[in-house]
Amino acid sequence: MVWMRDHFNVIDFEMFKRLFEGGLVLQDERPAVLLTFDDGLASNYDVAAPILEEAGMRGLFFVVPRFSASAGDEGRRFYLEHIRNRWPALNPMTPEQIRDLAARGHTIGNHTMSHARLSEIPEAEYESEIVESAAVIESWIGHPVEAFAWPLLWNAITPEAHRVACRRHPYCFTPCSGRMDLQTDLPCLIWRTSIEASYDAAEFRFKCSSLADAVSAGRRRHLVRMLLDHELPRRTWSERAVFPRGWSMLQSLKRNVSPTVARQ
Ligand SMILES: [Zn+2]
Repeated sequence: MVWMRDHFNVIDFEMFKRLFEGGLVLQDERPAVLLTFDDGLASNYDVAAPILEEAGMRGLFFVVPRFSASAGDEGRRFYLEHIRNRWPALNPMTPEQIRDLAARGHTIGNHTMSHARLSEIPEAEYESEIVESAAVIESWIGHPVEAFAWPLLWNAITPEAHRVACRRHPYCFTPCSGRMDLQTDLPCLIWRTSIEASYDAAEFRFKCSSLADAVSAGRRRHLVRMLLDHELPRRTWSERAVFPRGWSMLQSLKRNVSPTVARQ
């Protein structure tokens, strides 16, 4: 976190929203980063949140109500069946811990009711997995849930599931890596770079440098076409989205990556 704080301007979700809404201009030259955590693991509460707070930071935690509502063996079984089939099975944060995180200034987001693979479940289940899940989280934290992140693979989503998610949440986070460009990217499709707890320091810094993001350019284009193309007029699509997106990504790579790498 110390390295992160030295090289990036770590912002919270409220600042992230104001950046999108145009009400905030960052004076800091360093790239802005919002830290997000998926699945609502107990270690988010016990380990991650105290480290963030000690550094004066706040995170965005995407939780899974059905996981958090289970405990003990049931919780660990849920983890293996729905989240990651890999030992050791991990425990969830409890609803009380999620409420406490929100009270301490962190943001809680919706990661579906049961960590569903939205590309494979029937459309009839979108309501419970996306909309009712948000309502359960809101009943725990006492205020609206504004951020959604679909679980699992970068393309484990359908246009209809994305529409349901965006109707309920103003901000939709993807599991597809990339740097956000506020000129061209949209709050209904927010790129995220995945960092695993198992990474060593070199891997962590490499992922933070965004050098690997170019590999995901095709995935980002695919998601924009699949999920947004019908919403963007052809002229807007070609003029505003395609060329500037690639161009601004190159520009931000030049602008932001070099200093990060040079200082390592
Ligand atoms: Zn997940």
